[in-house]
Amino acid sequence: MSKSKKKHKSPWTIFIAIFLAIAAGSILGKDATIFGISLYAIFDVLGAIFLNALTLVVVPLVSSSIITGIARIGGESEFGRLGLKTFSFYIGTSLIAILIGLFFVNLINPGVSHVVPLVSEAEQATIAAFKEGLSHNEGKAFVDVLMQIVPSNVIEAFSRNQMLGLIFFSLLFGYSLSKIDTGPSAILQGFWQGIFQTMIAITRIVMKFLPYGVFCLVAKVFMTTGVGSLGSLALFSLTVLLGLATFMLVALPLLLSLIGRVSPLRHFKAMGPALITAFSTSSSSAALPITIDCVEKRAGVSNRICSLVIPLGTSINMSGSALYECVAAMFVAQAYGIDLSLLTQFLVVLMALVTSIGVAGIPSASLVAILVILKVIGLPSEGIGLFIAVDRLLDMCRTMVNVFSDSCCAVLVARSEGEKGILTTDPVE
Ligand code: ASP
Repeated sequence: MSKSKKKHKSPWTIFIAIFLAIAAGSILGKDATIFGISLYAIFDVLGAIFLNALTLVVVPLVSSSIITGIARIGGESEFGRLGLKTFSFYIGTSLIAILIGLFFVNLINPGVSHVVPLVSEAEQATIAAFKEGLSHNEGKAFVDVLMQIVPSNVIEAFSRNQMLGLIFFSLLFGYSLSKIDTGPSAILQGFWQGIFQTMIAITRIVMKFLPYGVFCLVAKVFMTTGVGSLGSLALFSLTVLLGLATFMLVALPLLLSLIGRVSPLRHFKAMGPALITAFSTSSSSAALPITIDCVEKRAGVSNRICSLVIPLGTSINMSGSALYECVAAMFVAQAYGIDLSLLTQFLVVLMALVTSIGVAGIPSASLVAILVILKVIGLPSEGIGLFIAVDRLLDMCRTMVNVFSDSCCAVLVARSEGEKGILTTDPVE
């Protein structure tokens, strides 16, 4: 455990940063300059440096957190039980999220009245790049993801940020560490504990720059996308946002209070910094260090549960993305005037569930999964051009949902393991 309980920046500072960024980005636009230097370029560089600083700790943090967590659990039955609970929660909540999305897309029918517009050149290039990536893999994109689970060279997996391989190796390492002689095992466990605590300490330093980082990243998005783009795709955006809001503000809080018997409001407060980081970076991987810190220090979940559930969730639990994939595929079908049968809708649900597991925790990663779904149900891949203009804005929201869902799982698993002291007080600001 770290020695001191450091304060997080007041959420108001960050809300003000987001508000200013939306206003500045929308008003200034991409061509604004200061002393002849493009403001967009300045925000781009500063935002990228902030993102780098966050992702810098991800590989050592994920490995040390899983290794120490598993090494401590040791006993095979406990390991299996926790794994099963975590996995069931992830699959269960993603399914709930997808069904909520399916409900709203059938209720609102955003694509039915949507006039299929001409896709701009930039959008065409993006779609072509995605399609190219997909066809290069000869449709094996997801087989490749599966193959990454067992890397042949762990250093290569680490250097390429391949989270699935990293997690697999860390699970194996931690488990085997609990089986060796106590002397060397204790030394190695101490070593990995030290790495874990140091990574959290680095995260806290980076967190001091959160409002500035958030400002640059959000302003950049609104300089290129602008709030105006939401207008032409208002119904689609509304459907996605209603679905995400219902899942995040109704379904998950219900689980928290009915099953976990904890205050959802307190959990929202505890997760504030992580949610804001997810929103502004559109990357659950980048938000991971802060998520771990919030779940452990602010919500009070033990390191034993948190170190296992959160890194796993960041890689495989993408409830918000799964909901988005389902709505997007249905929207494209509606816009092209294709009436999807119940059976095909079931296929969309299944595909959204499976592909969301392989979606990486980086911006716009869902687009590849959506292309795969469109392909499977026989829709033109150009369809992603219909909503690509609002993808980044909606990405900010679905990433926040992905992170919140992981944190709820950690709380529920911890409660089911009989942990006390979770969310018993408001977090220290
Ligand atoms: N940006 C999302 C995340 O990092 C993934 C996606 O849906 O594109 O969680």
